[in-house]
Amino acid sequence: MQAHDGMYIDGAWRPAAGPGTIEVTNPADGSLIATVPAGDADDVAAAVAAARAAFPAWSTTPPSERAARLGALHAALEARREEIAETVTAELGSPIGFSHAVHAAVPVAVCAGYAELAAGYAFEEKIGNSRVFHEPVGVVGAITPWNYPLHQIVAKVAPALAAGCTVVLKPAEDTPLVAQLFAEAVHEAGVPAGVFNLVTGLGPVAGQALAEHEDVDLVSFTGSTAVGRRIGAAAGGAVKNVALELGGKSANVILPGADLARAVKVGVANVMANSGQTCSAWTRMLVDAAHYDEAVRLAAAAVAKYVPGDPADEKTRVGPVVNAKQRDRVSGYIARGVEDGAELVAGGPDAPEGFERGCYVRPTVFAGVTPDMAIAQEEIFGPVLSILKYEDAEDALRIANGTVYGLAGAVWSEDEEEAVAFARRLETGQVDINGGRFNPMAPFGGYKQSGVGRELGKYGLGEYLQTKSLQL
Ligand code: NAP
Ligand code: MG
Repeated sequence: MQAHDGMYIDGAWRPAAGPGTIEVTNPADGSLIATVPAGDADDVAAAVAAARAAFPAWSTTPPSERAARLGALHAALEARREEIAETVTAELGSPIGFSHAVHAAVPVAVCAGYAELAAGYAFEEKIGNSRVFHEPVGVVGAITPWNYPLHQIVAKVAPALAAGCTVVLKPAEDTPLVAQLFAEAVHEAGVPAGVFNLVTGLGPVAGQALAEHEDVDLVSFTGSTAVGRRIGAAAGGAVKNVALELGGKSANVILPGADLARAVKVGVANVMANSGQTCSAWTRMLVDAAHYDEAVRLAAAAVAKYVPGDPADEKTRVGPVVNAKQRDRVSGYIARGVEDGAELVAGGPDAPEGFERGCYVRPTVFAGVTPDMAIAQEEIFGPVLSILKYEDAEDALRIANGTVYGLAGAVWSEDEEEAVAFARRLETGQVDINGGRFNPMAPFGGYKQSGVGRELGKYGLGEYLQTKSLQL
């Protein structure tokens, strides 16, 4: 695949400061698909300087003009949907159908949403004798993961630009190609030089330099709780704004009387999508004792349809995980589940037959999982579902809320009001009721250790604004 041998800084592709490189591989077969430069602290410093220099003009550009640039960015991404899908499939390994439907379509929709929001947002309001202005926070350092690589970029960059902030992006080392493609689209959209800058590189080098740079006003991070915790601590020490989108261990609560077949089928699909590499995945299915055995049987039947395959094939529903380290981590968790006494209903720790070469994991379902097991507490980030039994609604609530995380969840009931009432008691940022579909304008973010702050829609825009009140 085509890759730029440089950093996108101040409106142009520039040579990296150092000689380091990142090899981008296809996890389906381990083949090398491209090499990109690994930036260091000097590249980060150059990018932050460009973003700082661009800030005065961009922050005072009328919102309608910023909206017009976002509209042009939307058009540029829309025109490249095919290329986006192919790139994400190559570097992440997600099935091409899913790459089209989600990895390409969702960021295009989010970008369109922000073009509209920027044009109509009330950047000024009146409160009593005060005029309150919502002003851009400044230079944003955005650090993104590989699991929804373009969505996570757009969910930060689009609202930042809408707000009038300027940005330096450090994307995940596994998925730098779609980030370079995004930089090309920004360039085509006529976004002024320095407003958006891209530094590819390694987390502990370029990522850390960006998070700790004194001229960055806000760090927006999506990724693991371990790294997020450190970024939050550093930002706190420097009295910087910080937004953290971290892990999850979300519960799919099926209440007695719900459409069990549908709840289980959608629940299994939710976990298997993107090979389970979704922070909001419903990785714990909670079923009452009377329906438990039937749910396990339905889950086993549903997961049998997820046959590992070549992600480039339109018919494939589950591909590899992103890299060998993740494969080993996920299969380690599967082995741990067996050791801890959970019952393997489907899958297992070994690679699927015929796929020993790529980074494949067998789609796995565990029954007989108890809330204290590691597979019921820790984020696995692979195609692994744990089914737990509950006694009554209070027990279900206790189990659902019994992890350090609180990102997402689902509730199924024949009575929508009962489901809503139950969802209100869940310690989590978003809950899908009876299969309610993803809304790219609804606030997305975590309770508890799943994060700080919200992304998407007007709440996502608000993260990039600070208020000033003038008393008249
Ligand atoms: P990660 O290390 O947290 O990576 C996320 C981003 O942070 C990447 O751009 C990474 O760069 C960067 N980074 C890493 N160390 C950093 C540091 N010290 N300072 C600043 N930036 C740093 O996550 P991962 O290792 O790819 O995945 C590990 C686990 O995290 C997964 O198994 C999963 O449980 C969780 N995860 C969650 C999400 C989510 O959406 N909530 C997304 C991804 C992963 P590099 O790419 O160079 O490491
Ligand atoms: Mg890779």
